[in-house]
This record gives sequence, C-alpha cells and structure tokens, in this order.
Amino acid sequence: MSVEAIQRALARAGFDPGPVDGKLGPKTLAAIKAFQKAHALLVDGIAGPMTQAALLNYVELTMPVSSVRVVPTEWMPDAIMKRIIVHWTAGAYKASALDKSHYHVLIEDDGQLVHGKPSIALNDARGAKAGYAAHTLNCNTGSIGVSLCCMAGAIESPFKAGTAPMTRAQWEKLPRVIADLCWRYGIAITPQTVLSHAEVQVNLGIKQRGKWDISRLAFDPSTVGAKACGDALRKAVSSLL
Ligand SMILES: [Zn+2]
Repeated sequence: MSVEAIQRALARAGFDPGPVDGKLGPKTLAAIKAFQKAHALLVDGIAGPMTQAALLNYVELTMPVSSVRVVPTEWMPDAIMKRIIVHWTAGAYKASALDKSHYHVLIEDDGQLVHGKPSIALNDARGAKAGYAAHTLNCNTGSIGVSLCCMAGAIESPFKAGTAPMTRAQWEKLPRVIADLCWRYGIAITPQTVLSHAEVQVNLGIKQRGKWDISRLAFDPSTVGAKACGDALRKAVSSLL
C-alpha cells in the first residue's frame, strides 16, 4: 500500500492520520500505533505486512455491500498509483491478445473481467518499467488503464456505435472495478484522478490525438460528451465508497 492508501484506510477505520498527503508525519505514525494497539498487533508505528493486511481486511469488512470486491487481490500488487484512466478498446466484445497487452483490467460485454498482460506495478508512479501498459499517450506512469471491450468501427460524428456498441453490463461493472482500485491504491475520486481517456487532454493538460473514449454511452443517448460520461462514472464510484 502507498502511504496515501494507508492514511485513507486509517481514516476509514476511525484513526485520524491527519491530511492524506503521502507523508509519514507524527499524526500518521500515532494513528498507525493506535490502530495496531486496537488490533492486537505489535505496536511499532511501522505499517508492515501484518498491519497492512489488517488495514485491508478492515477496509474490506467495512465496505458497503454494494462494493464487495470484484478485482482479484493478486491483480492489484503493491505499487504507487496516482490515477485511473478508463478507455474502450475500439475492438470486439471479447478481449484480444492485443487488447490485453495495452490495459491492466478489461471488461467484456457481459461484465466479465479479464486480466491484462502488464502488471499494474509496471506503471508505478516512481517510474514505468519495461513491458508497462501503454494506454494513454505520455501519461502511463502512475496510471492504471481499465478498458471496456467494445466500440469496434464506431464513428464519433455523426455518432455511430459500430459493430460492438458498449453494453450497459460493462458500463455498470466499471464503477465497482474503479472502487476496488481506488481503495487499494488510495486514489481519490476527482476529475484528475478518475477519468476517461477523452478527458485527459482537458483535465490533465496532456495532448491526446483526438481520443473520444469515453464520450458516448451507446445504450444511453442522453449522456453525451466526455465530461458528462466522466461525471456519471465518478458519481457512480462515489456512491460505492
Ligand atoms: Zn483510450
């Protein structure tokens, strides 16, 4: 867990770590010690494997039923991650080998989760490592890539959803996946930290080449535009945490 994730978990467990700033200051240390004492752990102020396991366990036990974990623990290795960027593959409903090479987690048409080839740890914020998931131009370091398998042959304007229009099942699975990742990595739900590829240029100021995933929901013609889709997603994630 990153220090931020530990701080969030401590706060959730009722032990005030001070501001969530990623720093192991006196308040955070005191909160770790208080948590350790309350959970019959060795009180040393170090959030080692036992303390982290207890924190994660606590977080999981106290998560609302609606957000029971969907992402397998082993898909979420230790790493410092800053944000989650959501995409569609512009491919078919089932994840191809190429799709899997570009993202960490994929969601197929029926909501089935597929593990991407690169580990999330390869995109660590401290520096991407060889084989990292290349999902967003100049913005892969510290970024988790989640992608919906859909939208092959789609056209932005005038909008045509193509041969694999996004399904409600995959869109509705997305907030649950993101909620798990936010908890695991201590990522806050803001337009800069949970966003779609189509929002990267505006929200982060990093130029993309006309990417429009996700600015349309094929099953819901009333939600149009990157911001509208992103806001709907963030609202759904917030309601789970
Ligand atoms: Zn994309």
